[in-house]
Amino acid sequence: MIVADRKSLEEILSMVETDKKILVVGCKGCVTVCNVGGAKEVEVLASALKIARKKAENELEIDTHVLERQCDNEYVSQLGDTVGDYDAVVSMACGVGPQFLSEMYREQVFYPAVNTTFFGGATQHGVWEERCAGCGTCGIHLFGGICPIARCAKSLLHGPCGGSSNGACEVNKDTECIWDTIVKKKMEQGKVDDLLAVKGFKDWRSARDGGPRRSIREELVEGNI
Ligand code: SF4
Ligand code: SF4
Repeated sequence: MIVADRKSLEEILSMVETDKKILVVGCKGCVTVCNVGGAKEVEVLASALKIARKKAENELEIDTHVLERQCDNEYVSQLGDTVGDYDAVVSMACGVGPQFLSEMYREQVFYPAVNTTFFGGATQHGVWEERCAGCGTCGIHLFGGICPIARCAKSLLHGPCGGSSNGACEVNKDTECIWDTIVKKKMEQGKVDDLLAVKGFKDWRSARDGGPRRSIREELVEGNI
């Protein structure tokens, strides 16, 4: 899932500083799962904005709505002409949401209320950790099922940098050196020599180095059915 954090109230207040009537739109996808942009968080933000503006004697009218997903035009289109009733729309989806909204409703201003951070999962209640950097050519089987691209601070693919200490990364002592973890796991399996088989350079064109990416399922494209 995509993991995100809500921006500070101060930052969002500064975005809507000159607006009198706004719509706050949530998303029932990943941002609901990581408790950042679902129905509950939309209402919390709307209340906080209203209170802050009331205190400043500059009242703000706010409506709220939660879409099934903001990354799908089928749902984005459900907002319809109502978008034009507002001075601005605040999106609580990941960075994809406000872009889909901006592309469909070209006259309106959309503000991102969320900072999109990484692809990851919950390791305990209330804690999410990064696991994937979306490189486009997954090779975790070469590293004991662990991704050094997303989980090594330097995305090293051919072994540790040599800076780790007691299993902690030299970049952040509160983070495990993932290469230490990979090597230990392969040693436990009696397969540490497998790591010597990782040769050459990764072709990064499948990642962001190749520019914006597109995924096409021919069988789902209209006209091909
Ligand atoms: S190898 Fe690439 S696709 Fe696989 S988990 Fe790592 S970043 Fe994600
Ligand atoms: S200490 Fe380990 S995790 Fe940190 S940058 Fe070096 S190899 Fe990567």
